[in-house]
Amino acid sequence: MTDTINKTQQPDVVIIGAGFAGLTAARELRQAGLSVIVLEARDRIGGRTWLDDRLGRPLEIGGTWVHWTQPYVWAEMKRYGVGTVQSPVPERAYWWAGGARHEGTPDQLLNEIDAPNRKLVEQSREYFPQPFAPFTNPDIKVIDHVSLPKKIAELEITNYSRDILESFWALNFNGPIDDAALTQALRWVALTNGDWRVSFEACATFKIQGGTGKLISGIGAGTDVRLGRTVSAVNCAGGKAIVTTTDGEEFKAAHVVCTLPLGALGAITFEPPLPAPARKGISEGQASRGIKVWITVKGEVKPFVALGSAEWPLNFVQAEYDQDGNTILVAFGPDAGRLDPADIRQVQPAIDLLVPDLDVLDAASHDWTSDPLSGETWPMHRTGFLTESLGSFQQPHGPLLFAGSDYANGWGGFIDGAIESGLEAARVILNGRTA
Ligand SMILES: Cc1cc2nc3c(=O)[nH]c(=O)nc-3n(C[C@H](O)[C@H](O)[C@H](O)COP(=O)(O)OP(=O)(O)OC[C@H]3O[C@@H](n4cnc5c(N)ncnc54)[C@H](O)[C@@H]3O)c2cc1C
Repeated sequence: MTDTINKTQQPDVVIIGAGFAGLTAARELRQAGLSVIVLEARDRIGGRTWLDDRLGRPLEIGGTWVHWTQPYVWAEMKRYGVGTVQSPVPERAYWWAGGARHEGTPDQLLNEIDAPNRKLVEQSREYFPQPFAPFTNPDIKVIDHVSLPKKIAELEITNYSRDILESFWALNFNGPIDDAALTQALRWVALTNGDWRVSFEACATFKIQGGTGKLISGIGAGTDVRLGRTVSAVNCAGGKAIVTTTDGEEFKAAHVVCTLPLGALGAITFEPPLPAPARKGISEGQASRGIKVWITVKGEVKPFVALGSAEWPLNFVQAEYDQDGNTILVAFGPDAGRLDPADIRQVQPAIDLLVPDLDVLDAASHDWTSDPLSGETWPMHRTGFLTESLGSFQQPHGPLLFAGSDYANGWGGFIDGAIESGLEAARVILNGRTA
């Protein structure tokens, strides 16, 4: 990769963002013989995946788990000879429901979630008969404005089950579920043929061996990535595109692929302006505004999992690594504004709510929600986004295309979706070239 300033370059394609979507698109286009420059604002590649040394070992600060139901990332792992490592299988489970903490086996917790969750997602395949073609059933328009709490309120379940269900989905959305779209939940589960347990397995079981850094380095190898280049404007007025950075560099290209998360798109001025449905999506943003925290606790703790209240600063935690006689946990909370992970005096009571008798020693995190280059964690749609805005990002706007996990057809919200959309953007450009 290179990091040289060249103010006059005119590649065939400029790609904005060096995450999984951008680097996948770049590889495909380069391999087809096009010249490509990737402009990346950060000082590293990987975007919302970031394998970094924290708490004495490499930890995934962003995206982590992959699954065999995710065809695009699975194919890339095969291509680069990268395997998986399993997270520890929990031996105990703790959960909060009906105003009390409960303790049992992980199977007991899964069984508590099972009946109400099956009711919630029972129509997933009806609404999404082809999970990688989310617009197949026109009836999704009818339910796309239904929020998860509204649907949960309609289910005939006990308050105890409601507590568990709301927290489970606040975990999946990594945010408060007030206006989380039911369609987004149904899409997730449809991708595992309606089986929510497999969908949950996809979220937190199998990690990439060697970390996400290994896979992204493979995909990005040989690509001309210009780090530290923050794009501020994309002008497509003359048929070609002119991309301008905050430092005043200009890049002219026949095509631009913009892979910014929805939550970061507001920083770019598009000329002509994007259509109203896309602008509405940008102004509303994603539902995900939570936090992922790595926490060192004292001593060797047997693997466990805990699901707390949707109202707590952290509502999920599981043991992940043994480290020098201590244990590293990974935890999630629905609102990044409610917990400062740098202050273990805040982390300790958040953990105390979830699990008894753990001594917090240290914690590490990144606030993706406040980070202007992401503005969200993993993309999870609000009500209405699927049927009103997503299509607008999936269509070319002259020489401008969007790609990224936020705009994927299948596993939107995951690394898989980012790769899928990067492949799609490259295909559209290459088809247009030969047509
Ligand atoms: C905490 C967390 C946990 C997650 N867990 C999982 C998981 O376990 N499994 C899973 O599959 N997925 C997970 N995800 C989601 C997954 O990481 C993302 O969906 C995926 O990495 C997104 O890739 P992308 O290329 O679409 O976007 P990004 O990775 O966001 O790439 C966009 C790039 O654009 C750059 N950029 C932004 N603004 C500008 C600008 N103005 N100019 C130039 N560059 C700019 C950004 O710096 C970034 O590098 C998680 C995400 C987070 C945050």
